[in-house]
Order: sequence, then C-alpha cells, then structure tokens
Amino acid sequence: MTRRTLIAGNWKMNGLSADGALLAGNLARWYREQARINADVLICPPATLLGMAAGLVGGTGISVGGQDCHVSEAGAHTGDISAAMLKDVGCSHVIVGHSERRADHGETDATVRAKASAAIEAGLIPIICIGETDAQREAGKTLDVIATQLRGSLPQGALAHNTVIAYEPVWAIGTGKVATPDQAQDVHRAIRRDLGAFLGPQAAAQIRILYGGSMKPGNAQSLLALEDVDGGLIGGASLQLDDFIAIIEAAL
Ligand code: PEP
Repeated sequence: MTRRTLIAGNWKMNGLSADGALLAGNLARWYREQARINADVLICPPATLLGMAAGLVGGTGISVGGQDCHVSEAGAHTGDISAAMLKDVGCSHVIVGHSERRADHGETDATVRAKASAAIEAGLIPIICIGETDAQREAGKTLDVIATQLRGSLPQGALAHNTVIAYEPVWAIGTGKVATPDQAQDVHRAIRRDLGAFLGPQAAAQIRILYGGSMKPGNAQSLLALEDVDGGLIGGASLQLDDFIAIIEAAL
C-alpha cells in the first residue's frame, strides 16, 4: 500500500502580512521550479493570512489549511471561524485537536470529533492530532492514551480520502526533543492497528499518519523513512523556508 507523503507546515500564531507573503510566495516560487515533487505540501498559516496565502500558492499544487474550526457552520460564535469559511478562502485541510488547543482551550476528544465532522461536512480534510504528555509516557501509558484519544476524536465516516491523523507527542512539540525512530514507529504502528479496529483494515492501510514534534532537516529523513510514518506536521521549522524545503526534500 503506497501512501503519498504529506508535509504540512503549522505556522501557529506567527506572521504578519509581509512575512507571510514572503514565506508563501518564496515557497510557491521554489515549488514551481521543481521538475517533480514526491510529496503533498500543505501550509497552515494563521487565519488572518489564509486568503493571501491561498492566492500566492494557487495553481502550484501547494495546499492551504486552517489551524482550527468551529463545530457549527455559522452563527453567534464571536471570534470563531467555521469550516465552510475556511473552504471559502481556499483551504483544503484544517488541523483539529492540536495539543496547544486541547491545553489552551480545554478541547476534549468529543470537541475534536465534532470539529473533524464539521470539517468533513464542509469538504475539508481534518488533520486530527493526538499525542501523550511526558508524564503519560513515563507512566507507560502512551499506547492507551493514544487509543483513547483516537477512538474519541475520530468522526463517523472517517476514511483515507477525507481524514489524516497526526501523532504529536506533547513532550516533543516546540521543545527540540524528538521521538526516536523506534518510539515513533511503535506508536504509528499502534495507531494503524487501532484504526483497523475502529474503521476496518482497508481504511487503516490507507489513512496517512503524520509525525509531529521538533521535526527538522536533520531528523526528517530517518522519521519519514519509517514504515508507518506518512509525513510530517511541522511547527517551528515550517517558518524557515530553507528548513521547510529541506524537509520536503527529505521525503523525496
Ligand atoms: C506542531 O506544532 O504541530 C509542531 C510539531 O511543532 P514543532 O515542529 O515546533 O515541534
């Protein structure tokens, strides 16, 4: 089963118009000059830059995604953005359940599932993030935590064409600590096994599972080469054009 690698950049709450335009514009220029790219490339800028980024990368093959969406399509939810609005400005994907949102906004698995459902309903592909904390890993609970989060966050109707999973150990996000290839492969294999139990063997074999957590040019190749790692969700390094390109190239 071949699963095409997906390299996704999560810009988080970074970038004003000028920096965002430079980064998206230069990435688009580089992409256009490549004869062949063996990975899907996605950038997830902050909401304020989505429309501009979609315009700059439009027609290149680079996709654009949001970093969160509301569970409702529209209504009295001041400050929130719906999946339909993301779709409307040119997004194809949306990150849901990032550990920073689970921590900062108290998002539960049920919230994440509802957001993923709303995304699919709007024609977006949710990237559903799951991952254990340092304390949970130390306590030997990693695979249980992952299975519980996955079961609770997966929406009805999740399949390979409409859903991506991201394994992001919380202790590795923005810390410079990265999962070893053995640690990453062990969890990714377990996620695929759990997906098989929840969705059936065919969906499990086809769904892409990204690794996220301090992926950099220096460690990308060893992680992306793992059997059950189908790409990366990249935070810090996606803000540096050369680093992000080096990670894309590590997938080739
Ligand atoms: C992330 O925020 O999804 C992430 C993986 O961040 P970083 O690459 O900076 O660890």
